[in-house]
Amino acid sequence: ADSGKKRIDARSAEAFARAKKVIPGGVNSPVRAFKSVGLTPVYMERGEGSRVYDIDGNVYIDYVASWGPLIMGHAHPEVIEALRKTAEKGTSFGAPTELETLMAELVCERVPSVDVVRMVNSGTEATMSALRLARGYTKRNKIMKFEGSYHGHADSLLIKAGSGVATLGLPDSPGVPEQVASNTITVPYNDIESVKLAFQKYGEELACVIVEPVAGNMGVVPPLPGFLEGLRSITSEYGSLLIFDEVMTGFRVGYHCAQGLYGVTPDLTCFGKVIGGGLPVGAYGGRREIMEMIAPAGPIYQAGTLSGNPLAMAAGYTTLKLLTPETYELLERQAVRLQLGFEANAEKHGIASTINRVGSMVCPFFTDKTVINYETAKTSDLDRFKKYFAAMLDLGVSIAPSQFEGMFVSAVHSDADIDETIAAHDAALQRL
Ligand code: PMP
Repeated sequence: ADSGKKRIDARSAEAFARAKKVIPGGVNSPVRAFKSVGLTPVYMERGEGSRVYDIDGNVYIDYVASWGPLIMGHAHPEVIEALRKTAEKGTSFGAPTELETLMAELVCERVPSVDVVRMVNSGTEATMSALRLARGYTKRNKIMKFEGSYHGHADSLLIKAGSGVATLGLPDSPGVPEQVASNTITVPYNDIESVKLAFQKYGEELACVIVEPVAGNMGVVPPLPGFLEGLRSITSEYGSLLIFDEVMTGFRVGYHCAQGLYGVTPDLTCFGKVIGGGLPVGAYGGRREIMEMIAPAGPIYQAGTLSGNPLAMAAGYTTLKLLTPETYELLERQAVRLQLGFEANAEKHGIASTINRVGSMVCPFFTDKTVINYETAKTSDLDRFKKYFAAMLDLGVSIAPSQFEGMFVSAVHSDADIDETIAAHDAALQRL
């Protein structure tokens, strides 16, 4: 039954009005402004476990999880303790610390394709640096990416991008020089025939293919059987590098990341989100021979004043240590329950629905089409999503304010949380 709950947003509205005077669009990352859903953004006060609390006193079961990082929930006591202990010893040195090596050892151990890994401060930095490395290593300029994929906001990657660019329906890349854009070849996700055709034309010029092994920025779109394998063989054939952008999937969809789940080995991998445990961290790593082209081992430059920052490493390392193979079993179980509950609700209300899921990444689309790429993701009824989003928020469930983002189940979502979410979804569909 509908609890009739409604969100109060007077304080958030006031906070947003004030922010708009001094921050572009009022926010430091576009989708947070709730523009595409036409609502006042929620200003958060605090988070604990599976819940977030806003400044108006509303409480939500949270599936945004800071857009993926908080796989162990908000303010996990061990993460907070690690941060506190580390902060007491100083927050940054610009000199190496042993924690950076512990972190690198852990990543290399969990991700078999990674022999060597470099820490940076965001997913954007990770992909941007991996691209430069691929270009420097192969001495080629062109790159291939997929329509509706998002790899951060580096110039070369802001072409036919997903995530906020798709959410806001923005044109391709104002501000990106034409010469740069012309070096980015885009093809539809999951379409290996188009990849082959593009390689026939540009193969000798392609430095790399960068791919989200599970697309997470056009909703959630799993790779079709043979797609990742096909990319592996075609890149090898043409001497281009295969880069897995695991910023979203890394340590999220499995203990050995998406590459472990699908058994495909990339040359380079980018990380972000979970690897930082809620602090600003990214990383890129891969085969030793390629990675050692980076300065100071090699000639390709990449650096960072705060890279490998002790606080960031403490949060990330503690989070990765908390993640065991059993955690992923739990995540899978809870996410399956959520999916089944949502499917039953859609059936009950006779609402066109396709729910894609890989591990704890779940995405309900308002379409009866199978969603395998950006084209089919766009068949979702966006107007219906808007109403659904507002209803879920009113009913105390926080999801991303965009059809082109998934929900993240965390290890601290209890059975009761999942049940409550399924009930809210039922009530939300009723309100549509
Ligand atoms: N790659 C992927 C697959 C992502 O999902 C994102 C962020 N959503 C990025 C790169 C960029 O990461 P960041 O926002 O940390 O720069």
